[in-house]
Amino acid sequence: MNTLILGSGGREHAFAWRITQSTLCDKLFVAPGNAGTAQIATNLPISYNDFEKIAEAVLENDIELVIVGPEEPLVKGVRDYFQSREELKHILMVGPDAHGAMLEGSKDFSKNFMVKYGVPTAKSETFTKDTLEDGLKYLEAQKLPIVLKADGLAAGKGVIIALSLDEAKESLTEMLVDAKFGDASSKVVIEEFLTGIELSVFVLTDGDSYKILPEAKDYKRIGEGDTGLNTGGMGAVSPVPFATAKFMDAVENQVIKPTMAGLKAEGIKYNGFIFIGLMNHEGEPYVIEYNARMGDPETEVVLPRIESDFLALMIATAKNKLHEADFTVSKQHAVTTVVVAGGYPGDYRKGDVIVGYDSVKDATIFHAGTKPENGLVLTNGGRVMALTGMSNTLEKAIQKSQKAAQDVLFDGKYYRKDIGLDVLRY
Ligand code: AMP
Repeated sequence: MNTLILGSGGREHAFAWRITQSTLCDKLFVAPGNAGTAQIATNLPISYNDFEKIAEAVLENDIELVIVGPEEPLVKGVRDYFQSREELKHILMVGPDAHGAMLEGSKDFSKNFMVKYGVPTAKSETFTKDTLEDGLKYLEAQKLPIVLKADGLAAGKGVIIALSLDEAKESLTEMLVDAKFGDASSKVVIEEFLTGIELSVFVLTDGDSYKILPEAKDYKRIGEGDTGLNTGGMGAVSPVPFATAKFMDAVENQVIKPTMAGLKAEGIKYNGFIFIGLMNHEGEPYVIEYNARMGDPETEVVLPRIESDFLALMIATAKNKLHEADFTVSKQHAVTTVVVAGGYPGDYRKGDVIVGYDSVKDATIFHAGTKPENGLVLTNGGRVMALTGMSNTLEKAIQKSQKAAQDVLFDGKYYRKDIGLDVLRY
């Protein structure tokens, strides 16, 4: 199978790493990829949002399967584009169409979907510029803290948790009137704040059958003890001890099954990943958000735990044959630590030479913001690499991941030293 992966992060390097291990893998391409994918696949210098160029590359290289990593091309309709062109219709694809991707692309759509199909979620109302006054009044009647969410894609930055009524009102006005998140905040979902422990659950589906992938916990904030600014993710662990069999049963029955039924009832043919951000609130699962793709860096702990042939799973997903696919999960613990560039998540350094990765022996290196140049590997993004340790115990997996994060060197490097420690204490 000749395969193309769209994206350039650690997630896509992890996809590529698993796919090259498959006996089914012929040629593998990544667009645009990074220095890590360049070592095991052919990078194509094409933006993942440039559908015409992607189509050209697919035809030129006899690509049979396209796996879409990030949300943007999905929400912009890469699947619909392929379906609209006769010569591309037959190309297999992992990733939903634009309608299915609205689960992630519009918070208002996903909240309505959850309510309609009985998926437990926080109470909410949606407001626009025209209903700003109603929104401000609504806020006065709500408990604090209160959550404000930009409806559209905002690169993970569109959620504000307001601690005071003044802050909530000011944020709502900024989002709706001053377009704080551009078009993405032309609608704002105001949502009840839920307390509890967060957990990410991943489902792979062909629209009919589904596999529940290993669950994960991620570490979103820049500082240790989960303090400071939000980031794309500073680390992740899998498995998660509070995802007990009882809780996961509740997730399957109360969340996954109604979600699948809802997709069917809406006429959405969904071939791809569904990432479900959950809150364990008083022992019950509540959906915080859906994403229409895998998470990053969660992929870097989820994929190493999938023992079955990952490319076979991708093909089965795209061909509507997931029920036939082999699917086994390792009991090992996986921990990933993300090393980031100095300044991240604000303005950060770029172009620093990375060394030391050759001495990483006990962890898997997933490149994210890196690029190859004149035989060197340079930093080229905020999150530079994710370093995954695996072991029979969580403690050892943490040690392996942290040791690798120590060994990889570049000017301005930063990483969190507390990834997994809270789970270890749990
Ligand atoms: P989202 O982009 O929807 O994942 O939101 C980003 C983060 O905000 C989540 O991972 C949670 O930590 C937090 N969050 C979102 N919605 C809620 C909520 N209703 N209650 C508490 N925290 C929330």
